[in-house]
Amino acid sequence: MTANETRILIVEDEPTIARAVADRLVAEGFGVDVAGDGPTAVERARAYEPHLIVLDVMLPGFDGLEVCRRVQSERPVPILMLTARDDETDLIVGLGVGADDYVTKPFSMRELVARIRAVLRRVERPGTAAVADDAAGAVCIGSLEVDQRARRVRLDGREVHLTPTEFDLLACLLRNRGAVLTRAVLLEQVWNWADASGTRVVDSHVKALRRKLGQGLIRTVHGVGYSLDAAS
Ligand code: CA
Repeated sequence: MTANETRILIVEDEPTIARAVADRLVAEGFGVDVAGDGPTAVERARAYEPHLIVLDVMLPGFDGLEVCRRVQSERPVPILMLTARDDETDLIVGLGVGADDYVTKPFSMRELVARIRAVLRRVERPGTAAVADDAAGAVCIGSLEVDQRARRVRLDGREVHLTPTEFDLLACLLRNRGAVLTRAVLLEQVWNWADASGTRVVDSHVKALRRKLGQGLIRTVHGVGYSLDAAS
């Protein structure tokens, strides 16, 4: 099955996120349909027969868990669930509703697409493992080594585990080394959200990077944004 034969139903009531996800999946060559509430999701799942459903939990009508139950009782289909928080994910996993994977908001489009492809590969092997990376090799900043191709980070020779979103944020700062990036720009480039209302998530991810990689790496430019100094 090639990507352009693969249909994905996006169930999400926040228009900004629904649009961003739909645009990206279309650009990746998937067929896409969108539903904004529980009852419509069940109806579209029946009519569109998607190969995978990206399903938000909190929805008008009835919630994503009920959508999951109703859809799965009619026809098994892989479901990737969008959750608002890590503890919500734990809760849903505990309920055993039968989603194939979970992505916690906020997520980067790169992360979402990677997870979608991973789920599809799992259910329809043999799949096509598309390995493509634009980025160059390893970059060193002091005792920090960032391997963009392998998406690995080492500090003082020791590997540091970053989440996909943390890595994307670091790579974005690295690409723009020496420049000050506003939270809105980071939100758009890393999370692919044109809506700047979620800028707090940028702060929390910067905080996570500082905790893992040291306080001195990323500079706060008061009232503007963040910068990774060219000289560091
Ligand atoms: Ca929602």
